Amino acid sequence: MSDFNDMDAFEGASLSARAMAARPQPYLEGLNPAQRAAVEQLDGPVLMLAGAGTGKTRALTARIVHLLNTGRARPNEILAVTFTNKAAREMKNRVGLMLGQPVEGMPWLGTFHAICVKLLRRHAELAGLKSNFTILDTDDQLRLLKQLVLAANIDDKRWPARQLASIIDGWKNRALTPEKVPAADTGAYNHRGVELYAQYQRRLIELNATDFGDLLLHMVTIFQTHADVLAQYQRWFRYILVDEYQDTNVAQYMWLRLLAGGHKNICCVGDDDQSIYGWRGAEVGNILRFETDFPGAHVVRLEQNYRSTPHILAAASGVIEGNQGRLGKTLFTDVKEGEKVRLIGHWDGDEEARWIGEEIEAAQRGTRGMEKAGLDSMAILVRASHQMRAFEDRFLTIGLPYRVIGGPRFYERMEIRDAMAYFRVVVSPDDDLAFERIVNTPKRGLGDKAQQTIQITARANGVSLVEGAKLAVDQGLIKGKGGGELRRLVEGIARWHAKLRGSRIETVAEGDLIDDAAGPVRLEDTPPSISHMELAEIILDESGYTAHWQNDKTPEAPGRLENLKELVKALEGFENLQGFLEHVSLIMDNESDDGGQKVSIMTLHAAKGLEFPVVFLPGWEDGLFPSQRSMDESGVKGLEEERRLAYVGITRAEEVCTISFAANRRVFGQWQNSMPSRFIDELPEDHVEVLTPPGLYGGGYGAAAPRSTLHDQAAEANVYNSPGWRRLQERSQNRPVSQPRETRNTVIDMAAASSFVVGERVFHQKFGYGAIQGIEGDKLEIAFEKAGVKNIVAKFVTAADDVPF
Ligand code: ATP
Ligand code: MG
Repeated sequence: MSDFNDMDAFEGASLSARAMAARPQPYLEGLNPAQRAAVEQLDGPVLMLAGAGTGKTRALTARIVHLLNTGRARPNEILAVTFTNKAAREMKNRVGLMLGQPVEGMPWLGTFHAICVKLLRRHAELAGLKSNFTILDTDDQLRLLKQLVLAANIDDKRWPARQLASIIDGWKNRALTPEKVPAADTGAYNHRGVELYAQYQRRLIELNATDFGDLLLHMVTIFQTHADVLAQYQRWFRYILVDEYQDTNVAQYMWLRLLAGGHKNICCVGDDDQSIYGWRGAEVGNILRFETDFPGAHVVRLEQNYRSTPHILAAASGVIEGNQGRLGKTLFTDVKEGEKVRLIGHWDGDEEARWIGEEIEAAQRGTRGMEKAGLDSMAILVRASHQMRAFEDRFLTIGLPYRVIGGPRFYERMEIRDAMAYFRVVVSPDDDLAFERIVNTPKRGLGDKAQQTIQITARANGVSLVEGAKLAVDQGLIKGKGGGELRRLVEGIARWHAKLRGSRIETVAEGDLIDDAAGPVRLEDTPPSISHMELAEIILDESGYTAHWQNDKTPEAPGRLENLKELVKALEGFENLQGFLEHVSLIMDNESDDGGQKVSIMTLHAAKGLEFPVVFLPGWEDGLFPSQRSMDESGVKGLEEERRLAYVGITRAEEVCTISFAANRRVFGQWQNSMPSRFIDELPEDHVEVLTPPGLYGGGYGAAAPRSTLHDQAAEANVYNSPGWRRLQERSQNRPVSQPRETRNTVIDMAAASSFVVGERVFHQKFGYGAIQGIEGDKLEIAFEKAGVKNIVAKFVTAADDVPF
């Protein structure tokens, strides 16, 4: 790449400098003097170091607007790094709002990964890749490493590939290529780590693939070794802005420093108390070192918190004070009194989920003494993602709409991963890992031996597995049913690939494979004859994958088919399959938005930077939060990072913050008794109100509680003797106890559709309530109140009256 002008991301931004200059600046008016200083100090390095909710992100956004408004930079000359894709979208929207017109062309506003993908596609050849490289997810990464480990005759029971993966990630986070791994690390993975790392990198290049860490690593390496490329970007990015700077790792930090080396107009904002990614290589030291790295930096401190009530702020400050070695800061708020932080203990996790569900419904109705709160304004923040299941199950049961943010939940499902592997092979036929996944899925009679033959043929000819498979078929190396099926598959791939590229190939002669000889066909040149959604359906149908689930008799099969449909639907928002695949590999949040209000469920990590009027913080139990693993692995450092997470959690709340814990919890199928979190004891008493759990004090558990497994007297005494629990009892305010309801929800299977009539109201576990519009055999067409019209097999719904709650 020699000239920026031939790249759309660098081409004429819609707001010309002149047009932007000297416009009114209403966006400055709402800012306090310290924020304003940070916004108006446009030249040179600026560090905004301040506590939660003090308006760092807001000031950063205003700074972007100011840059545009004063004509200092065009939208595409600003590099702005956010922590999640969601944050990037929000920032872009807000810039538009503040500016009073939508911003077109801010291609460089995004996460480190999203920005690096874009850059790397432009410079792939400098890393030995082609520009259509695939980004592997952790699952593929692990499979690849496992192959290498086995080939190296290493006992992967003793030395799990997963361990190697995390060592390699660690190196990549520190921007260490295999040659740069320091001597002190050579003992890693039984002294084979570095060698395997080098092999892994070579293999990735062969596969035309990268893993997540590579995106940054390759770009840092390219910048370090190609001064001309670096210089161009240094010139181009006039202004660099970074949110959540406390969580950058060494590779990200180096990347930023390289890019900022030109204009030195870099503005970073962060909060040392919110550094929560140490386990992923983030170095809070980066923020503390800023002034040394960028001499003459303006440091701005913000002290007014605009987000939370004084009680919430005091509770958060009380907890974080337990950490040593903080920079320390004062925070104040003008917000009116508000409620104290609420604390409640429950019998078990299900009870906790049930109670929170009721609280949410009460808040929705406005019966909690506050104004009616929409579901969008409420969030449940968990320490570990397995905690989500209890809430998901409960909310599905009561038909409470929710979204999971930050978890690749949907895209991690088996059928989705299979389908995506098909798409990947079609987009990039070099993608051997994806081909391995699908070659015998659905079963094509291609066992280990046949797959080995493909591997050997590919290797012998120096070609990809798809090509190898074709050769193996042509040479008659794979006999019988498997051979015929394989032929159909490779021909299918050729056909779909041709469709993808817009070639109008009607029929493909037998054995006619992907033909790249004519050179790359650009999508714009020949418009595709079908949409990528249609293509996706064709791929899934013609490959036999859809039929595979249609013929499957397990109870999960219908759900899987629905998911596949959902997947095709998800494609709609993208221009092409490649764009979609990229999106999925980068995805940080997976909300399928039907526009309705929803409660958000996410991990504390994913909640960074967000705010909600009503926040629930469940599972405050020692071992779960603070996490035992984190404490075992990193001792006091780990505990302090957990405490920062508690600080992040509490400071997400604007008006109501409820902390809860359970005395018993089932973790991975095992019941465990738990002690209330030590962080509960660190909450300043004056700012906490203890609620009486329904059921523990006087409410009594009926048949609902599985007492036989739970009612372990010794463990109970243990829990009740813990300081947190005793305090909880002492301070219990004896609120009226609500009678626990029967919690068993037996949804009665309706065997025959004939028992339903058109017009009848029914209930579905996932879609909630709806009315039957049509009946065909055992299939019902149902108009759901929230989920729209769907066709559902009768046995999956229940007459609404039969739902026992
Ligand atoms: P975090 O550390 O959690 O990321 P932050 O410092 O980035 O927080 P913001 O999210 O920017 O804080 O702001 C918190 C809230 O305060 C937002 O709702 C924002 O709109 C509001 N806010 C920020 N500055 C002001 C101000 N000067 N006047 C009124 N409201 C403000
Ligand atoms: Mg922020």
